[in-house]
Amino acid sequence: MDENMNEVISDLKSYLGYLRGMGILSLPTSEIKLGQPNPSRVMTLEEVRKELGDCKRCKLHRTRRTIVFGEGNEKATLMFIGEGPGYDEDVQGRPFVGKAGQLLTKIIESINLSREEVYIANIVKCRPPQNRNPEPDEIQSCNSFLMKQICVIQPRIICALGTFSAQTLLKTDTKISALRGKSFDVEGIKVIPTYHPAFLLRNPERKREVWEDMKKIAELIKTQ
Ligand code: URA
Repeated sequence: MDENMNEVISDLKSYLGYLRGMGILSLPTSEIKLGQPNPSRVMTLEEVRKELGDCKRCKLHRTRRTIVFGEGNEKATLMFIGEGPGYDEDVQGRPFVGKAGQLLTKIIESINLSREEVYIANIVKCRPPQNRNPEPDEIQSCNSFLMKQICVIQPRIICALGTFSAQTLLKTDTKISALRGKSFDVEGIKVIPTYHPAFLLRNPERKREVWEDMKKIAELIKTQ
């Protein structure tokens, strides 16, 4: 077989293995064009949203008002991933629009970016009742959709906001206080954990650490 074809097949195999590792078990094969540099680009966020549909894959659908899919730049270099929608997000269908969201907006703007330039999503897309922590089965149900969003967006950097985001993305149970301040490589994406803005509202003295993390992100963006 032609040398180039062998190379294409080998690249494709390793890419499919990578997607499988991210929890993506099927692709819209009719749309894949061999030779296209990045097969994940064939899926758009709109298509991921369509596939999610009126999701009833976990028990959170019973109490949610709205699915909070995520919003922002489909080609963002930087993605923020929080825990799950709260009351305001559930009402408006948008991530981080309540008090914690207003603080996140300021955090984003502190490194001279706007919400429109980044992408903002959550570990679970439906509000847990009474804002309780998302449970493992709920995180698991939502995970493949978050992974698909990440594959479409292909951010270079993910800022994981808070315990659930950092622990889910890094597949660890290490405390957020031990994870923040570090940078992790996950399948070629830099994951930077930091404190959740809601935690900062309760513990404003920890803002300095988040500022340190944001400076690190700003430096990384410069090198992209
Ligand atoms: N907290 C989160 O983790 N996500 C939101 O969208 C809002 C608050």
